[in-house]
Formats: sequence, C-alpha cells, structure tokens
Amino acid sequence: MNTEPNVPEIPQSTRPSNAVLVVGAGYVGLTTAVCLASLGNFVVCVDNDKSKISSILSGVLPIYEPGLLDLLNTTVNEHKLSFSTDLIEHSKSAEYVFLCLPTPALEDGTSDLSYIFQVVDEISPYLSDDVIIVNKSTVPLNTASQIRKRQSNPSVGVVSNPEFLREGSAVNDFLQPSRIVIGSDSPIIAQRVANLYIGLQDRIYFTDPISAECIKYMSNGFLAMKISFINEAARFCDAVGADIIDVAGGLALDPRIGSAFLNPGPGWGGSCFPKDTSALAATARYMGSPMLLIEESIRANNSHQTDIAKLVVELVNRISEDHPKIAVLGLSFKANTDDIRVSPALKILHLIAQRTHNIQIHSYDPMAKQDETLDFVRSQSLELAIDGADIVVVFTEWDEIAEASPQLFAERMRGNTIVDTRYLYSKDQFQKFNLNVISVGKN
Ligand code: NAD
Repeated sequence: MNTEPNVPEIPQSTRPSNAVLVVGAGYVGLTTAVCLASLGNFVVCVDNDKSKISSILSGVLPIYEPGLLDLLNTTVNEHKLSFSTDLIEHSKSAEYVFLCLPTPALEDGTSDLSYIFQVVDEISPYLSDDVIIVNKSTVPLNTASQIRKRQSNPSVGVVSNPEFLREGSAVNDFLQPSRIVIGSDSPIIAQRVANLYIGLQDRIYFTDPISAECIKYMSNGFLAMKISFINEAARFCDAVGADIIDVAGGLALDPRIGSAFLNPGPGWGGSCFPKDTSALAATARYMGSPMLLIEESIRANNSHQTDIAKLVVELVNRISEDHPKIAVLGLSFKANTDDIRVSPALKILHLIAQRTHNIQIHSYDPMAKQDETLDFVRSQSLELAIDGADIVVVFTEWDEIAEASPQLFAERMRGNTIVDTRYLYSKDQFQKFNLNVISVGKN
C-alpha cells in the first residue's frame, strides 16, 4: 500500500482538535459522521432536510443501517457528535468539511455536481484559514480541482477521499475498511486528513486527487462488470445446460477471480453502480478514451433485467385466472438496506407492469422505503404477500425471505411457480412440495 505521504506523522500535541463538519446526513454522511466521532473526532453533521435532522434528534434514523443507531447514541452521549441544519454557523468553526452530498446522474449520463458546488460556494466565505474540504461524494475527475478553484482563500485545502462503504454493512466497512484513499497534492494536508482516521493508519492509501477520484469510478465499474459477467454466464448456462451456481462456485475457487461479486442475481442496481458506470462511460467517451467494457456491462445488465421481466410475463400469460396475483419478495436493491434507489426489483416490476394487464402485485419487504412510482399492494408480512399467489418472484436476499420454507409456499400459494432471482431456494427441496423454482442458469 502507498502509505507514505513523504512527511512524518504530525505529533499528537500539534494536531488540530479535529472539529469536523459533515455535510449531508444520508447513507454516506450519517455513517461518516457517526464513525469519525466514534474514532474520537468532534463531529457536527448538517443536512438541509429539516425533517431528517429532527428525526435523528428524536432518535429515529432516516435510513436503516445495521449498528448505526447504537453507535450514534454512544457518540452523542459522549458529546462527540451533534446534528444541525445550520450549515453556515458550523462552517465558521470547522477545521475539516466532509462533503457527503448527492451526485445524481444527468440525462446524458454525466454527474450533477450542483449539490457539491452549491454547498462549497455557500460555505467558502466563512471558512477559516487552513480548513480542509474533504470530498466523499463520488464525483467526476477533476472535481477536487474545481472545488479548489472556487476558493478565494488560498490556504483552504481540498482532498479527495472517496467512500467505499456498502449499504447494509456501512459501519463495519467504515471502521474496518479495505482502504482509505486520500487524494491530495499536498503531503501535509493529506496527512492531516489521514490523522482523522484514528487507529486506521495502516489502511491509508495516499495518491493525487484525480487518481483518487478515478479509483472510485474504476472500483464500481469493475464490480458492476463482474456482476454483468456472471449474469451473462447464467444465461449462457441455460443455453448449454450447465448450472450457474456450480459454475460460479468453481470459478470462485480461483484466487485470481475470487468469490466476491460473483453471485448471479437480478442484475445490479442501487444508488451507485448505475450512475457511476454511466458517468464513467460518459467521461471516457468525452475524453476520447471510451471504456467499451463498461458500456457493454451496462447494456448486459439492462438486457438481463429485461429478460427476467420477459420470463415473468411469459409465466403470467400462462395463467388462466382473470387477475393473476404476483407476490414480490424484496424491494430494496439488496438485503440489509431500506434503499430502493434504482432497485432491480422496481425496475423489473416496471417492465412487467408495462407488458401485462389485470395482474395484482402484492409485495413484501421487511425494511424497504415506500415506492411511489408503482401501483402495488405493500403487504405487512411475507405470508400475506404470498397468500393465494399464482407466481412468487424473489428479488432481495433478506434472511427472512431466504429462510421461508417450501411448506409455507405450498400451503399459501394458489399456483406453484417461484422465480428465484437470488438462488435462495433448493429446487429439489421445493420440488418435493410440488413447487417449481425457476432461476436463470439452473434450468
Ligand atoms: P443521500 O441522498 O443518502 O444523502 C445525501 C444527503 O445530502 C441528503 O440527506 C440530503 O438531504 C443532503 N443534502 C443535499 N443538499 C444539501 C445541502 N445543500 N446542505 C446540506 N445537506 C444537503 O446520498 P448518499 O447515498 O449518502 O450518497 C452521497 C454520495 O456518496 C454520492 O455521491 C454517492 O454516489 C456516494 N456514495 C454512496 C454510497 C452509498 O452506498 N450510498 C457509497 C459510496 C459513495
């Protein structure tokens, strides 16, 4: 690991008192604020969404993230962490400003940096000398340099510190990271940011700002590509009569390939991969160096999700009932998160809804946020969702869904077809209950 910024570590006595301002109390901001406070820093977390901050202050997290609430309560009780909506007031006393703001995709695939620049422009007049702006949002290359150019005070530093946490295991990922990438042209500024990660110094990877920004995009691009690969392999397995789970298992034994992100499923989604791959592809084209593998991975993912939708539609069309009931298990883009942004479940459900009529969709998810874009019933329990269902479609690998017994489905369903996009159920076990489990690459 590149752990040498070429300057000795700043001695404890001369270290700043670590007054950290985290802007944005979403999945990344809230986790960053809580975890930096738990490492020993003094943190204020600010969001312009008043309801979010009052919900946090009343002890209710606006997001579901295992372990986060307990750690938040501990750090608040230790007076290490507080919350506010007053960005300007807290900018005045901050020594570090962490930007954890949205960077959604624009129509042309590039990233919308308006949230970042708006906050940067608002706070810049109030920042003291030597403050460091640390960008954690996923941003296009050169954003750190653009933030730097917007500063009138030349002593303000800007560091790119992309975040790699995964929703569902965000606290662990933050506190036991594979790496903490710190991109800065100044070794002293880089080391000051590194010092905030108390006890995690051996995980720090120093580089320049553009390389840091690039590492984040390439990581997500690579992981998305790996998932697209295994899903394409699943479809190939169907064509040739191989079993994708056996094939993936055999591939994963090769340490050069590894098992991570080699699980076939309903395709990738979530708030990061879709926008980050499209931003990477758009930037690469713009720079005259197209990343064809990334472009194809996006296409492969879309086509995989369309194929799953077609499969369900085909099954629906075989049902003679007037109003076939489809039970959907899982809406969040993966287990252990409530996040439904660009969830494969919703994307595929939209495609199914466009291609069918008269179907009733009943869904169950233990945590997922409400979706306003589709007209379906949200059941209070898995049992209620599958009651009288003609087809069950499994989208998210929550333990509760994975552990549902074949007997339960056999007793409750009207039909006997389960489309299992997460490979949770044993075909043989379910077959004993006259249930037909269909998964891509296992037919
Ligand atoms: P989010 O939407 O959950 O949170 C962003 C927060 O910023 C929201 O609470 C919003 O109210 C707040 N905000 C917006 N404008 C503001 C302003 N002017 N002042 C104060 N607060 C403001 O987003 P997120 O999922 O936390 O992602 C943030 C960034 O981190 C994105 O660039 C994302 O790509 C990146 N990222 C996300 C993840 C992830 O798993 N969610 C992982 C790594 C990186």
